Amino acid sequence: MSSILFEFASIEQYHAQLQEGNVTCLQIAEHYLNRIEETKHLNAFIEVYRDEVLQQAKSLDEKRKSGKPIGKLHGVIIGLKDVICYKDHTVSAASKILKNFTSIYSATAVERLLAEDAIIIGNLNCDEFAMGSTNENSAYGKVLNALDETKVPGGSSGGSAVAVQAGCCMVSLGSDTGGSVRQPADFCGIIGLKPTYGRISRYGLIAYASSFDQIGIFGKCIPDVALLLEVMSGADEFDSTVSHQEVPAYSKQLQSDKKYRIAYFEEALTHPGLDPEIGSTIKNKIEELKQDGHTIEPVSFNLLNYVVPAYYVLTTAEASSNLSRFDGIKYGYRSDAPGIELTEFYKQSRSAGFGKEVKRRIMLGTFVLSAGYYDAYFTRAQKVRKLLNDQIELVFKDFDFIILPTSPVTAFKAGEKMDDPIAMYLADIYTVMANLAGIPAISIPLFKHSNNMPFGLQLMANRFNEVSLLRISNLLLVGN
Ligand code: GLN
Repeated sequence: MSSILFEFASIEQYHAQLQEGNVTCLQIAEHYLNRIEETKHLNAFIEVYRDEVLQQAKSLDEKRKSGKPIGKLHGVIIGLKDVICYKDHTVSAASKILKNFTSIYSATAVERLLAEDAIIIGNLNCDEFAMGSTNENSAYGKVLNALDETKVPGGSSGGSAVAVQAGCCMVSLGSDTGGSVRQPADFCGIIGLKPTYGRISRYGLIAYASSFDQIGIFGKCIPDVALLLEVMSGADEFDSTVSHQEVPAYSKQLQSDKKYRIAYFEEALTHPGLDPEIGSTIKNKIEELKQDGHTIEPVSFNLLNYVVPAYYVLTTAEASSNLSRFDGIKYGYRSDAPGIELTEFYKQSRSAGFGKEVKRRIMLGTFVLSAGYYDAYFTRAQKVRKLLNDQIELVFKDFDFIILPTSPVTAFKAGEKMDDPIAMYLADIYTVMANLAGIPAISIPLFKHSNNMPFGLQLMANRFNEVSLLRISNLLLVGN
């Protein structure tokens, strides 16, 4: 296959190159297909839609050359996490229980990308049912971090992060229930945005914990992330939790010279679990922001040690309910043991179909919802969620943003945390807050650790304040 030299900078620049006739969608599609082949060992892709990608690229070239108006995402190469439905393509949540299951419809987010001429290049590896922080809980095996292949890419959207990191697609979609877009973005040195709960439709997103789940975006520059958000957001008759709030033209509102009011939690930056170098780097950044004229102040926050337990009680409860539909009858894998009665059939299908972490969470969720323990766990966790929401609301009365690390440590060594699920859960300390509160949050790749791995800065804003969040991110990344 012929190949061109192509360095992707932004969708805008790519479109300028297309319009000037320097490249075609077909050449670009070939470039990305080659790149996927070259980086196959990273195991980011589950499936690559080679023939149809080439076909679509050809017809987009014809459309553009015939002078027809082109979409906002004309020829943009996008990868999808394996929890997002794309009609007539397999989707499995990286689980044996759904292996070879074919989507019978597309997620609303995907429909909207396609309506703007995007090209979906393939589906991406992830932790099974989006449960995990390393992408090691996958029926398709682990994904490698392209910057250091002995390290994990983060999770659960590890494949989506690596696909962008390694230049195998321009942007990708993940899902973020407790940090699964921001944390892998942090580990891989790219941008990861989790929008406000209800900004993007969840229709066609395989559910993990429905009151937390949100589709998120990985990219290499803010204008691209803003453009995808703009295309996918907004009301949808198939998801009643999507907001009817008007969708701003995010990609056109990125410039600002405003001086912001920013809060940080001292407790978060002095937490014993935080790598001291990450803590001091963020403190230095805070000083820098002050010198640039922003107001930045510490705010007291006494819930830090409660957010991870609350998150794991509530999400496992929701997961135990959501995943009950995978019973061996309606979808995917079914036990072929002969002559067994129904309950035994469910048991065998689910035992063989689900992986270890998913089973652990289903059992934990069933336990916290059981009659004798409901008040001790589920009700209490809901109270923590309410307290957190109240505190966050107060903070946003006085501040535009909250600054936090994304992760307490840089990318783990592969295998390092697999025998200690609690240690793995605790590393979600800085990301689950935004999902408990339903607010938008972003991880932007600003720093490099002395261990040579990248890490990000996390910013959270008030509900539906993605405009400001994207503006300050752009300011911090490129200086305007
Ligand atoms: N690490 C978190 C978990 O394992 C995040 C998952 C997610 O956001 N999907 O639950």
